[in-house]
Amino acid sequence: MSVVIIGAGHAGTTAAAALRKLDKDIKISLVSEEGSPPYQRPPLSKKTIFSVTQNYDLILGKDFYNKNNIQLNLNSAVEEINPIQSYVRLNSNKIIEYDQLIIATGSKGYKLNIPGSEIAQKLYSINDAQKLAKSIAKAKKVAVIGGGFIGCEIASGAQKQNKEVTLLEAGPSILGRSVAPIFAESVSKIHQSQGINILTNCNALSINARGIETASSFVPADLVVAGIGVTPNIELASKANLDIDNGILVNKLLQTSNENIFAIGDIANFPFQSDSGRLRLESIQNANEQAKIAAKNIIALRNNQKLQSYSPIPWFWSDQGDLKLQMVGVGKLNAKHHVLENQTAGTLTVLHFEDGQLVAIDTLNHGVNHICGRKLLSNKKPILLDDIERFKGDLKSLVKELN
Ligand SMILES: Cc1cc2nc3c(=O)[nH]c(=O)nc-3n(C[C@H](O)[C@H](O)[C@H](O)COP(=O)(O)OP(=O)(O)OC[C@H]3O[C@@H](n4cnc5c(N)ncnc54)[C@H](O)[C@@H]3O)c2cc1C
Repeated sequence: MSVVIIGAGHAGTTAAAALRKLDKDIKISLVSEEGSPPYQRPPLSKKTIFSVTQNYDLILGKDFYNKNNIQLNLNSAVEEINPIQSYVRLNSNKIIEYDQLIIATGSKGYKLNIPGSEIAQKLYSINDAQKLAKSIAKAKKVAVIGGGFIGCEIASGAQKQNKEVTLLEAGPSILGRSVAPIFAESVSKIHQSQGINILTNCNALSINARGIETASSFVPADLVVAGIGVTPNIELASKANLDIDNGILVNKLLQTSNENIFAIGDIANFPFQSDSGRLRLESIQNANEQAKIAAKNIIALRNNQKLQSYSPIPWFWSDQGDLKLQMVGVGKLNAKHHVLENQTAGTLTVLHFEDGQLVAIDTLNHGVNHICGRKLLSNKKPILLDDIERFKGDLKSLVKELN
């Protein structure tokens, strides 16, 4: 049996390792268009771009692939998937046949489309990070376009290096799409108190060597970085006529519209909670857990066994300067937010309730409440505000009672 995996990011690499763990004989080909052995992306914005050595962390040891008989093809972009004859064609024209295919092609950063945008640097790959590290070391004034997680990480890291930092966000608040408004506001205030100039409702109109023109002011900068979000790499799947809608559509078993082709990680748009609900996540938790389920399901398909569904409790983290943000669950804009009282100074915990039930928790510098949140959200019986109040916001005791 032969499995080909397209993309050696977190999802593809974890799937290869999980498959090998389940079956020592299966032929596994892991194909990456990048030249570096598979590496971790989160440290790029937290560590690599601020280090002189530009070190990066591998997902698995360098020897893992050889030792485990996984054929790692670097610098090898897949240019075609042929689902009828079950093969992929690489940029070298090499053909690799498969019995089962996993697409894990991840995302790429959105391109800024304003005059001078070629001046702005981006951050997705190790190559981007190594280039950016050199620029940050030289820069005095850094402007970051985009107040999402990665923009905030770059801005706060640069500020810690004593750069003069401006963060431009087009919406009314940083982290606007990801956390409770009250949580975003608190994080924003801390960043500002530490010296980051945050401009909200602020669109960059053009960029030149001296900085950024906005509708209301000119932001001086000798380095501009754009972190305006990512979009899934769907082109290959689309050409292979797989069903696409904000990523590759998969069922709960992570199969695409072709049952021999799985899609996992940032690229996969999967059914979530309700019959009609769907979600596409850009997170390590999602990439790793989907990879392990896809590997199990590939083996189960071969053995005519029951396949496993993916029904996650999503979680995510972001390190911003000295702040640790941890989010669990999926909050919606119309959720009701409840701030936990009596918390240790310097921490914050915000609970999201929908229809009276706990659906998500945002924590700042509070790992214990984050872990409790994961446990509460995986509890069979929904957690209500009354439950939280009964324990006066002590999530640890509530978790204990439920066990
Ligand atoms: C700077 C940064 C910081 C982040 N920080 C966090 C964090 O703190 N916490 C968190 O949970 N998540 C974080 N993320 C998100 C997380 O890294 C992604 O969700 C995760 O990497 C997704 O894994 P993936 O394997 O689906 O995709 P990717 O990691 O994007 O990997 C996909 C791979 O496929 C390759 N590829 C694409 N097309 C082809 C092709 N045709 N042929 C061959 N190869 C191809 C790509 O080059 C890439 O190497 C961060 C992301 C970035 C960029």
